[in-house]
Amino acid sequence: MRQKIVAGNWKMNKNIDEAMELALSITEYQPDFSKEVKVIIAPPSLYLANLKMMKTLTCEVAAQNCSHHDYGAFTGEISAAMLKSMNVQYCIIGHSERRQYFDESNELLKKKVDTCVRNGVTPIFCIGELLEERKNNKHFITVLRQMEQSLFHLHGAELEKIIMAYEPVWAIGTGVTASSEEAQEMHAFIREQLGLHAGEGVAQNVSILYGGSVNAANSMELFACKDVDGGLVGGASLKAKDFAQIIASAG
Ligand code: PEP
Repeated sequence: MRQKIVAGNWKMNKNIDEAMELALSITEYQPDFSKEVKVIIAPPSLYLANLKMMKTLTCEVAAQNCSHHDYGAFTGEISAAMLKSMNVQYCIIGHSERRQYFDESNELLKKKVDTCVRNGVTPIFCIGELLEERKNNKHFITVLRQMEQSLFHLHGAELEKIIMAYEPVWAIGTGVTASSEEAQEMHAFIREQLGLHAGEGVAQNVSILYGGSVNAANSMELFACKDVDGGLVGGASLKAKDFAQIIASAG
């Protein structure tokens, strides 16, 4: 059975005091959240240890990225093996900002997915098309290619543990969100492709999150779509009240 999930991507924001305060404020809203909704926050990696040590933190913690290597001479990198050793269970892989600013290709992302799977860290795997691709009606082709080249080498049992996030690039940080029809159409397509590749049972077990300018005003409508299992939230996850409202609208 797939799960409702709301994940907050803090990107490169907040100093340590602000990060701890935000995490604390989120825990204060916890009584309002449905137990059916899994809440994940992805702070800058530097703060993961602090958050893991926070006894009152009830939500899960994710890294925003990891190396495609396990260990070795890769200055500045953090591996999935290290995340696992810190009991960090999730890692965002393939965010469009990593694809765009750090040239992360589908092939490299395949390796990152593999190191996560090998080390027991759940990838939150991001896919989505550019505005140009949507305008030219290429959005399904792009998304399918991203899945084929980075995920479809996995067995069904591995695939069903992955959290998918559909994030149209034109909607990320722009204030322009996909309509609920556009989101549902793409989520249904993603699930259909998972089913064709790994079987309907697997497809029904994969949580597919929507990301791209989700806020407290639009989350309810988006999350009500049949194949939208929650959200990956950027900007609005930096304000505890907004994030809490988004979480509440998922459950
Ligand atoms: C994101 O960074 O994954 C994201 C969806 O950002 P925003 O919610 O700000 O569009």
